[in-house]
Amino acid sequence: MSQETLSDFPLELEGADAPMVRFRQVTKRYGNLTVLDSLDLDVAEGEMVTIIGPSGSGKTTVLRMLMTLETINEGVIYVDGKPLTHMPRNGGLVPADNRYLRKMRANIGMCFQHFNLFPHMTAIENCMEGPVHVLGLPKREARERSEELLEMVGMADKRDQHPSRLSGGQQQRVAIARALAMRPKVMLFDEVTSALDPEVIGEVTNVIRKLVGEHNLTMLMVTHQMGFAKDISDRVCFFFGGRIEEQGKPADLFGNPQRERTQQFLSAVK
Ligand code: ADP
Repeated sequence: MSQETLSDFPLELEGADAPMVRFRQVTKRYGNLTVLDSLDLDVAEGEMVTIIGPSGSGKTTVLRMLMTLETINEGVIYVDGKPLTHMPRNGGLVPADNRYLRKMRANIGMCFQHFNLFPHMTAIENCMEGPVHVLGLPKREARERSEELLEMVGMADKRDQHPSRLSGGQQQRVAIARALAMRPKVMLFDEVTSALDPEVIGEVTNVIRKLVGEHNLTMLMVTHQMGFAKDISDRVCFFFGGRIEEQGKPADLFGNPQRERTQQFLSAVK
C-alpha cells in the first residue's frame, strides 16, 4: 500500500468517542479474491458485536486480521486508539515491525472453534502459560489469576486435569479462561460452539453471557447460532461479500431486516 494512501489515516484516534476497534477501508485479497472489501467497522469499548452471514462472506477474516495473522492490502485497523498493523514513524504510518505487533497483539484474546489447548499441560498450566512467559508475571500471581478465572468459568475443580480428560465444552471453557488470563482489551470468539455436542453448548454460551457487561470487555463474535446472537449482542452485523450489508440492534436486524440479502439469509437459517 502506498504512503499517499496511508497518509489519509490518522496516526492515533483520540477523544472520548474513539472506538476500541476501528476498521477503516480495510481490503483483504487472496490473489484475485477480495475477501474484505473496503470494510469500515467500529466497536465501542464494552460493546458486544456479533458477525453473522453466509459462508465465505469474510466473517472469520475480520477476526484473523485483528489477530494480525494476516497482512491487510489496504486500509488501517486501530485497537484502543493505536494502529494495529502499522506504526507511526516520521510523522506517517509504516508497516509495523514484529516488536510493535507483539505489543499490540497483547490487547487481543481469541477463542476458536477448536480449543487448541496445550495437550501436555493441565487446565491451570494452560491458563498460566501466557501470563508467565509472555507477560512475565510471577508464577504465584499468574496462578491466582488463573484460579479466579477457572472459578468464573466453572472449572475450578478440574484445574489439574489435562485437556484429554475434559469434555469439549469443558475444554472450551478453559480456553476462554486462558485467553482472559492475558487481560485482553478485546475478546474474539470464532464459532466457539460449532464443534460442540448440542448438550454442552449451553455451558459455553453461559460463560460468554456472563462476560457481557463485565469488566468493560469489548467483544467480537462470529456465530451461526442466531438465537444466541439475538440474546447477547449489543449490535449484529450481517456480512455479505466482505462488507457489512446491514447492521443494527438484534431486535431490529432479526425482527425487521431491511435488506433483501439479510431477509434471504435469515429465512434460510431459521
Ligand atoms: P467466513 O468466515 O464468512 O465463512 P472467511 O473469512 O473464512 O469466511 O473466508 C472468506 C473467503 O476467503 C472464503 O472464500 C475463503 O475461501 C477465502 N480464504 C480464507 N482464507 C484464505 C487463504 N488463506 N487463502 C485463500 N483464500 C482464503
